[in-house]
Amino acid sequence: MKKECKLYKQEKDKVRCLACAHKCLINKGETGICGVRKNIENELILLVYGKVVSMAVDPIEKKPLYKFLPGTDIFSIGTVGCNFRCDFCQNYDISQASKAGFILGEEIKPEEIVKKAISSGCNSIAYTYNEPAIFIEFVYDIAKLAKEKGLRNVLVTNGYMSEEAFEYVKEYIDAVNIDLKGNDLFYQKLCGAKLNPVLDTIRRFSKAGKHVEVTTLLIPEENDDDKEIEDIAKFIASVDKNIVWHISRFFPRYKMLDKDITGKKSLKKAYEIGRKYLNHVYLGNV
Ligand code: SF4
Repeated sequence: MKKECKLYKQEKDKVRCLACAHKCLINKGETGICGVRKNIENELILLVYGKVVSMAVDPIEKKPLYKFLPGTDIFSIGTVGCNFRCDFCQNYDISQASKAGFILGEEIKPEEIVKKAISSGCNSIAYTYNEPAIFIEFVYDIAKLAKEKGLRNVLVTNGYMSEEAFEYVKEYIDAVNIDLKGNDLFYQKLCGAKLNPVLDTIRRFSKAGKHVEVTTLLIPEENDDDKEIEDIAKFIASVDKNIVWHISRFFPRYKMLDKDITGKKSLKKAYEIGRKYLNHVYLGNV
């Protein structure tokens, strides 16, 4: 069920992917950083279209979304691949699989996903577990159908989607949870990315009137100093002080096994800083 991507353009004998802020320039026969968008004879092909590797019914609070359809279940799907390479990834087995050439998953069409969501009693669908911007054409096809059936659509994203991807799907997206992981150095050192595109995405969704919540995983000695926490809280408040901020506890994972679990003292301090600027702050994984 591979499909030609919508978000790309041809540049000489290569293609430029427009789905996320990396804007990879891809040679024939190669994929971009995410490993799921491949240049085949100068057409960009989405290798994970219709290939779902995780599918589950979750409480919406697990996304986490606390102030959007509270108390309901959400039908959640994800594919392999990611445009980040975070050393602390909690889902690295699926997010990094495509970079090793593994395009895994069950073949399933958008209409079947919508049917399953409805028969499971869910009134919303989440594009989650891995980064939805990298399979944005699949998101679009499902979200459009879902909307026609009266379902809502939620993106759980690292925020690195391009403006083009935002414009492409915004009509069908009702809510987002966006990670805001740290400062620019943090993004460069630990994720292979930059901060500014993430800030732009938060601003864009908020300005478009979508329901926005933000999550920060608090990692000891990486992003837990007062100034950094304060900068994040101030930024969110500058967009809208009613945005819900989830501060999440870190547990050692993937390449970051030598770190301690975030201490409760540190979480409490971050909560107090957050509350100076924001109306809704919650601690997660505690
Ligand atoms: S989605 Fe991002 S990482 Fe993947 S090919 Fe496109 S620009 Fe590159």
